[in-house]
Amino acid sequence: MNSDLGEVFERLSRSSFRRRFRLRAAEREYLERKGLETVMSHGEKFIDERLAPANPPNDGKQTPMRNHPIFVAQHGTATCCRGCLEKWHSIPRGHALTCEEKAYIFSVLRRWLSSQRGD
Ligand SMILES: [Zn+2]
Repeated sequence: MNSDLGEVFERLSRSSFRRRFRLRAAEREYLERKGLETVMSHGEKFIDERLAPANPPNDGKQTPMRNHPIFVAQHGTATCCRGCLEKWHSIPRGHALTCEEKAYIFSVLRRWLSSQRGD
């Protein structure tokens, strides 16, 4: 796990695939209406259900591309599946995510969502 978020975001910004993910108007409006804390609480649930198990069902395809700000944030930050978590964030596959790993993912998502507001 790489806890230097500045370095992680710098690498993400060099990926044309990751950079392509931005909140669309409806997703941004949802974020503004619900607020970051509520959206993050949805994120905790998504991560627990879809990403945290040692072998998540349908891994690699479990995160929709749109319609919730968290899903877009997950693709934008390569926290969408266990393969991307391993490749981009050095969080190995095959074990249930620890509290520290989940906290790290939440801080990545929070930073990405904050960067999408008001631009
Ligand atoms: Zn992925």
